[in-house]
Amino acid sequence: MMEYLIAIGTNIRKEENLKLALRRLSQEFRIVSLSSVYESEPYGYPHQPNFYNMMVKITTDLLPEKVLDILQGIEMEAGRARNELRWGPRTLDLDIVLWSEGEVETPRVKIPHYDLKNRLFFILPLIELEGDVEIGGESLFHLARRLLPYQGIKKVEIELP
Ligand code: ATP
Ligand code: CA
Ligand code: CA
Repeated sequence: MMEYLIAIGTNIRKEENLKLALRRLSQEFRIVSLSSVYESEPYGYPHQPNFYNMMVKITTDLLPEKVLDILQGIEMEAGRARNELRWGPRTLDLDIVLWSEGEVETPRVKIPHYDLKNRLFFILPLIELEGDVEIGGESLFHLARRLLPYQGIKKVEIELP
């Protein structure tokens, strides 16, 4: 069994798509733990609605590309368009952020996520699930302290089933 940390992001029909993602992830994998839900300001491409972000820890026997296939299938079920802007509005984005086996890179998937260290909306929910682990020699607490002045993010209270 391998563990994966999957980041969920949505800024169109946020609550509905968050629930869809959790329901479908629980059907495809074994869910170990869920972070809080965070609301964050758009990253990379401004003038779009805020996002909901959270992190989910799952276990599976599947390798990263197989997991990515399933995640991309779920994104399509949420109505995600293929031609959308990178970092633009989206119904659902499912990224693999970490896994239990360390580092991997194929043409389709790179783990750890290439931009993990720069995104508070990955780091804060990850700290909830994993504590202050080191990513490439830097502690998540340290990274979070550095980003907090620049990236607007807050916890939101949402009833999840
Ligand atoms: P970003 O990758 O900067 O978060 P994005 O999530 O909007 O932006 P997508 O269009 O969803 O980007 O994905 C682009 C490609 O990234 C995917 O087709 C996938 O093959 C690749 N990819 C590489 N590593 C990963 C990973 N760890 N998790 C998810 N996708 C990945
Ligand atoms: Ca992403
Ligand atoms: Ca993605």
